[in-house]
Amino acid sequence: MTIESLSGTTFDARPPRARRGQPTGRTYREPAREIPVYAETDVLVVGGGPAGCAAAAAAARLGAHVTLVERYGHLGGLATGGLVIWIDRMTDWEGRQVITGFASDLLDRLPKDAFIGPDREQWGSRDAAVAAYWAERSSAFKGVVTWSPTVDPEWLKLASLQAVIDAGVTLMLHTWGAAPIVEDHRLAGVVFESKEGRQAIRATVVVDTTGDGDLYALAGAPFESDVDEASIHHAMNVAWLWAGVDMERWLAFKTQEPQAVAVFMDRAREALGFAEKPHVAWRSDVALFMGPRLSGYSPLVIEDLTAVEIESRRRMVEHLEFFRRHAPGFEHAWIMLTAPQMGARHSRRLAGVAKVVQGEWKQAVVHPDEIGVSPGPSPQFANVSIPYGSLVPKDLDNLLTAGRHISCDPQSHTFLREIPQCWMTGQAAGVAAALAAGKGVTPRRVPVAEIQQELTRQGVFLQQRAPVEAR
Ligand SMILES: Cc1cc2nc3c(=O)[nH]c(=O)nc-3n(C[C@H](O)[C@H](O)[C@H](O)COP(=O)(O)OP(=O)(O)OC[C@H]3O[C@@H](n4cnc5c(N)ncnc54)[C@H](O)[C@@H]3O)c2cc1C
Repeated sequence: MTIESLSGTTFDARPPRARRGQPTGRTYREPAREIPVYAETDVLVVGGGPAGCAAAAAAARLGAHVTLVERYGHLGGLATGGLVIWIDRMTDWEGRQVITGFASDLLDRLPKDAFIGPDREQWGSRDAAVAAYWAERSSAFKGVVTWSPTVDPEWLKLASLQAVIDAGVTLMLHTWGAAPIVEDHRLAGVVFESKEGRQAIRATVVVDTTGDGDLYALAGAPFESDVDEASIHHAMNVAWLWAGVDMERWLAFKTQEPQAVAVFMDRAREALGFAEKPHVAWRSDVALFMGPRLSGYSPLVIEDLTAVEIESRRRMVEHLEFFRRHAPGFEHAWIMLTAPQMGARHSRRLAGVAKVVQGEWKQAVVHPDEIGVSPGPSPQFANVSIPYGSLVPKDLDNLLTAGRHISCDPQSHTFLREIPQCWMTGQAAGVAAALAAGKGVTPRRVPVAEIQQELTRQGVFLQQRAPVEAR
C-alpha cells in the first residue's frame, strides 16, 4: 500500500466530530462490591511522567515506602511517550542552571549520543554565531544560549526507569489510577484498574501527577480549566518522528535560502491547509514534528482524543508526501514513530493554597515557601519563585500535586508546564509527601524550612536557601 493510497482512503476521513452521539440519558447502577487492598504504602504517586518520576524518587530518597502507578508500560510521560524530546530551558538568562536536582540526576544518566545540546561553557553565551547555531537546534532563545537539550526518548525512558528503581520505588506499570479513596476529607489511597481487575492501594499521602489532575478533580478539589482556543496553550496533537532525513541539508536550506524557504512554506500551506515545520532531533537523520496543533479539543473527552489521533496522522501523511517531493533533505523520509501518548498541553489547574501569578513574578517576588526556581520567561524577567502552596489543595488533606496541573494562572502555566519545571515541582512534592508521611502530619503542616532543607540536600537550587544540617 502506498502513502498516496493511504492518504486517499483511511486518512482522508475528517474527524467525526459531527457524529458526536447525543447522551442516551440512561444510566447503569454498578453493584457495590468488596475489592482487595493490593498494597499499603507511605507515599503513592499516580502518573509516571516527569513530575511523577521526580516525586517518587525524591520521596524514596527520604526512606519512605513509595509506590508509583503508571497507566502505560514506560516512564517519562509526554517527555518520552509524547515525543516532547526538546527539554526546555533549565538555565537563566545569565547561563546559571536554576533547575537542578532530579533534572541533573536524570540527564547525567544519558549516554553522550542520546542528546544534543551546548557544552556548559556556552550556557548564557550571547555570541551571535554561537547563539545562531544553537537557535536552529532548540538551544538558544532570544540570542542567548540555553541548557535545553534534545534527547532520545528511548534513553530518557531508560534513565527515568533506572532513577526510580535506584531510589527504591515500587513500580506498578500498566495500572490506571481510577478513583481516589476519600475519607473524612482526606485522601486515603486510590482505587486502580489493571489486567488483574479493580483493586485498591492505601496510602498515607497521595501525589497526583497525572498531568490532568484526574485524582484531585475526582476527589472534589476545586480547579480551573479555562480554554482559550486562539492560544497554542490549549492545542493538542500527536507528534511524529521521521527517519531517513538529512537535517543538516534542511538547516542549510533554511538558513541560507530564506526566500526559497518562504516560497516552500507558502506552497505547503496552499497544498496542506497548514504547514508544520521540522525540528532537529538528537541525531541528524531524524526529524521531529511537534504538530499539528489542533485547537478546540479537550484531552478529557473521549471523542476529542480519538479525533486528534486520527487527524494528526492524516495530516502527517499529507506532510510526508509534500516534504518528500519538495523539501531538501526529506527525499527518503519515512515514518519512524507517531507518539504513543497524546500531546496535551493543558486541561486542569489546581485551585491551591497559593497560586503562581504573572503579577508577582513580573515584580520578581521571592516566596518564603519557595520550593523551586524557574527561569524567567524572557530576558526582562527575573527568575520565577515557585511557592509550596501551589502544590497543596485548598482544603483536601493528604494530597499533593505536581507537574502541568499545579495552581497557577494561564500566563504562568505557559512555562510551568515545561518538562524541567515538572521535574522541579515533582521533586518538591515528593520531598514534602515523604516528610508528611514520616511525621504523621498532613502535607500542609510540614514545616517549609524542612522541605527546603531536604531539597537543598538533594541538589535543588533555591533562592530561599535553608541551611543544610548534617545528618
Ligand atoms: C505538543 C507539546 C509540545 C511541548 N513542548 C515542550 C517543549 O518543547 N519543552 C518542554 O520542556 N515541554 C514541552 N511541553 C510540555 C511538557 O511535555 C509537559 O507539560 C510535561 O511532560 C508534563 O509533565 P507531567 O509529569 O506533569 O505530565 P505528563 O507528561 O502528562 O505525564 C503524566 C503521566 O501520568 C500518566 N497518567 C495519567 N493519568 C493516569 C492515571 N489515571 N493513572 C495512571 N497513570 C496516569 C500518564 O500516562 C503520564 O505518564 C510540550 C507539550 C506538548 C503537548
